[in-house]
Amino acid sequence: MGAVRVERVGEGLYLADLGPLDTYGWMSAYIVIGTNTLVVVDPGPRASAGTLAKLLESSLSKFEKIYLALTHIHIDHSGAVGDIVKLLPGVRVLVHPRGAKHLVDPSRLWQASLEVLGDLAKDLGEPKPTPPEAIVPVEDGTVIDLGGLKLLAVYTPGHSPHHVSYLLEPPGVLFAGDSIANYFNGRAYPVTVHPFSAPEYLSSLRRMIELRPNRIAVSHYGIVADAPEVFVQRAKDKLHAWIYLIEKLLSRGVQDPETVYLEVLKEDLELAYAKNLEDSMPTFRGSTYRAIKGLLNYLLSKESSSR
Ligand SMILES: [Zn+2]
Repeated sequence: MGAVRVERVGEGLYLADLGPLDTYGWMSAYIVIGTNTLVVVDPGPRASAGTLAKLLESSLSKFEKIYLALTHIHIDHSGAVGDIVKLLPGVRVLVHPRGAKHLVDPSRLWQASLEVLGDLAKDLGEPKPTPPEAIVPVEDGTVIDLGGLKLLAVYTPGHSPHHVSYLLEPPGVLFAGDSIANYFNGRAYPVTVHPFSAPEYLSSLRRMIELRPNRIAVSHYGIVADAPEVFVQRAKDKLHAWIYLIEKLLSRGVQDPETVYLEVLKEDLELAYAKNLEDSMPTFRGSTYRAIKGLLNYLLSKESSSR
């Protein structure tokens, strides 16, 4: 297994490329260093738990508190938590209350992961349970004091019903997880996997822009180079473009996910580019397909509920 590659991206802020399954440039965890406190935002899948724990172990004596701050519990973000807490007792896990029970008993999370990700879930690893006493629930407005820095939890559902983002102040960095989009080659790809909700997603985008972050840090992948509002606008435009394309297909009676996906790929060259990336990134495999299928599911269920 490859090592975690750590890069300084700001004052007391580091990007850790977890490189699960030797795939680099796909899963970024962020390490924030406050006075006596260290935070890892989204420690990643179980497949890279050992290397990350080793990295943290060396810092353990220097900090009074270590937090694992989860934006949400999808196994590519949270799968490492059970192992890390076991290896390094005393580590605390920040998560929205709706996600907490699935860390304590990951059996339903694991079943859902197998259904959505198939073999990829097995490669990323089955999460181990997290002891409830290690969990600190965070809701909209919860502030974690890091000594000189503050981490504000902001409820940002849409990608998943329990998604929170974190604003680090100063310096105004927003850890957005999957709530805005994947970021590759300067483009924004909303992560519209099942069970996506467009109205919640759009209101979360508004919420995040109102916070006026200076920078946005996403999970897949890295710190966004564009101005935050440009990135968010791109994500919004992309969502609307996909909805337009899929609704056009639905109006012609096309609703088979495979066909819808291939048709959208033909029309959207940016998506076709992301599809090409998947060939070099095993952990990214099927990601564009899952996004389009998730959005299709959302549009179909909206249609059937309005009938
Ligand atoms: Zn996710």
